[in-house]
Amino acid sequence: MALIVQKYGGTSVGDTERMKNVARRCIAAQAAGHDVVVVVSAMSGETNRLLKLVSQITDRPNEREQDVVVATGEQVSIGLVALAIQAQGAKATSFLGHQVQIVTDSTFAKARIKRIEAERIVEALKQKHIVVVAGFQGQDEQGNVTTLGRGGSDTTAVALAAALKADACEIYTDVDGVYTTDPNVCPAARKLDRISYEEMLELASLGAKVLQIRSVEFAMKYKVPLWVKSSFSDDPGTLVCEEDKSMENVVVSGIAYEKNEAKLAISGVPDMPGVAAKIFGILDAQNIVVDLIVQTASRDGKTDVSFTVGKTDLSKAREAVEQVAREIKAGGVETDSDVAKISIVGVGMRNHSGVAAKMFQVLSQEGINIQVISTSEIKVSCLVQSKYTELAVRALHTAFGLDKPSTVG
Ligand code: ASP
Ligand code: MG
Repeated sequence: MALIVQKYGGTSVGDTERMKNVARRCIAAQAAGHDVVVVVSAMSGETNRLLKLVSQITDRPNEREQDVVVATGEQVSIGLVALAIQAQGAKATSFLGHQVQIVTDSTFAKARIKRIEAERIVEALKQKHIVVVAGFQGQDEQGNVTTLGRGGSDTTAVALAAALKADACEIYTDVDGVYTTDPNVCPAARKLDRISYEEMLELASLGAKVLQIRSVEFAMKYKVPLWVKSSFSDDPGTLVCEEDKSMENVVVSGIAYEKNEAKLAISGVPDMPGVAAKIFGILDAQNIVVDLIVQTASRDGKTDVSFTVGKTDLSKAREAVEQVAREIKAGGVETDSDVAKISIVGVGMRNHSGVAAKMFQVLSQEGINIQVISTSEIKVSCLVQSKYTELAVRALHTAFGLDKPSTVG
């Protein structure tokens, strides 16, 4: 007998029929002899609807009160799913974050879980109840309602699995696993049977939105085996787990793209100590996250500095940088939001050479110009003109041997 934590996302509990389907799946797991804890999200669209109500009141909401509002979506889901399980003849109890208790820090809207006191869950499991827990929410040490950031139910599930020392954590969603790349962009994309925590972390931070990044960090830290599965099929899904030797043979495991960045370029920047610190210090002071950065070689005591920020931060960043540019007597500031970041990810890169060179070659063969490059131990990213996104992803997918075997017909 095993203890299993299952998490169902918004689409999986999108209406009452789907909730009945979730109930059937939980009961089947229990009938197979397992203790079952199920974490659910708000019904699809609900969190957005609640945030919209908040925005109709104010565009600068107090985050404590906003959390009070958005945490309600999950309360509806757990009650209905518990009722659906009971209606099908099994025992079920629902718990809100503070009832469990899931204790977080006080960073409203993106709180971090500090500890979980799961006695009530353990007790209910002993009584053979299926335990239904609200995702996304917790309470801080003062008893305030907190939420864990968008997609936070994934993290609730993984944290519960770690706290309860569960044998597996299964994340049910509307896709049947983690893919080599976005199947909407590349029809040859393949579902992966396994992927390492580290690769998943890179792909998640690059915009592959199957799992909340924090949930993967949590799973990696506590070595929780994490399954990504579809709630609409019986496909075994993808296992996110610790890296092993066989994974190193695959040089590139996945390709991600991100269209939500914009580039800023400052020309004629005086080449002297402290200038970069000044530019990026100002951006940091405004909480603007900078991603790729390049500085060209110095000519006549001047360099060009380019970097990317999230598209929503572009105008704020531009204002800040124009001011610094005047102060340091740089040339002009130019912006370009028509860019996309294409990244290849794989733990196998650590012991294979020439991976970046191959990526550049593939892009050049397609006539795609690379504007900025950045690399890490298991990732290479290139910034290109956004109209080339699909072409770049598909060409790289083929070149790195990721295409699924073509079927005849
Ligand atoms: N309902 C929350 C959201 O939409 C949390 C989640 O679904 O994971 O972000
Ligand atoms: Mg999600």
